[in-house]
Amino acid sequence: MAKRVIIVGGGVAGIQTALTLSRRGVPALLLERESELGGKLTGWHKLFPSFTPAHEVLDELRHRLNESDVEVRTQCEVRHVERNGVTLASGERLAADAVVVTTGFTLFDARVKEEYGYGIYDNVYTTVDIERMLNEGRVAMRDGSAPRRIAFLHCVGSRDEKVCQHHCSKVCCITGVKQAMELKTMFPDADVFNFYMDIRMFGPGYEEMYRDAQQRLNIHFVRGRISEASPTLEGRVQIKAEDTLTGRPLKMSVDMLILIIGMRSNASNAVFAADAGLQCQPSGFLAPRDQFLHNTESGVGGIFYAGTVTAPKNIGESLSEAVVAADRVVEYLKRV
Ligand code: SF4
Repeated sequence: MAKRVIIVGGGVAGIQTALTLSRRGVPALLLERESELGGKLTGWHKLFPSFTPAHEVLDELRHRLNESDVEVRTQCEVRHVERNGVTLASGERLAADAVVVTTGFTLFDARVKEEYGYGIYDNVYTTVDIERMLNEGRVAMRDGSAPRRIAFLHCVGSRDEKVCQHHCSKVCCITGVKQAMELKTMFPDADVFNFYMDIRMFGPGYEEMYRDAQQRLNIHFVRGRISEASPTLEGRVQIKAEDTLTGRPLKMSVDMLILIIGMRSNASNAVFAADAGLQCQPSGFLAPRDQFLHNTESGVGGIFYAGTVTAPKNIGESLSEAVVAADRVVEYLKRV
């Protein structure tokens, strides 16, 4: 009898894992908590560094899924994970011969950093808000006018001891550069600033994009962290920072302050870990068996990982890892 694999989480890593298993002849059941598949990518506009529309990637994955024999269940929340199946929030138990956890990450809640006024002051946004506005085809200040000065702030909810998020979220520097370029192209007369602690351009084409942002589009990069934001009477946002390269304090008013929020681990990771004897990293992301030869294995036979459930990754990395995870599952099923 064919062996069944359950994939928990229907983002890009989950879809790709299910598709690969199906291509290898393994019956796959893909479970997604939300009403549609795609995870965080569903709210995204364009992907770096190519500015590929996110929906092109997602549409293609969904098309492949429709053509496959993968069984999909949406609005299906998994509460407990074990090596031989899962238990849903409804109490239903689903048996499997292996489980792949692809539940991804949670976005940092910018309201926790009260000093920036997100959700309190007008014209303070997150990178997620900007992707939504770009998708809607209209980026504007709260009163509908076009911004003339825009500031991005890097590392909001990452590399920050005060909010217990010590890790680097890895993809948000390039997200900030991408969005700065999109807004500068949309508003050529606007001044666009990126306030950063370090610029981390780890992927192919990212460094070139960063240079292009500076040299062609004249986007300003200021090394320094914004210490606080406050509203002005005209509805703008006044920010205070220190330029740590010159040692000078800096104060300016901007029309839009955009917080580049990081990726944090899901609360469900700890529950899954307690259920099944899995390990969490200090960051809360699930710990693979090792970082090199077994990075899609959990260390517990029959439970595997793919995508950002183990660490921040970009879309390409998540997709590649999903193929590896599926292959590891196939090898495992041959042994048991
Ligand atoms: S990728 Fe950049 S913005 Fe994101 S946490 Fe790391 S240094 Fe900060």
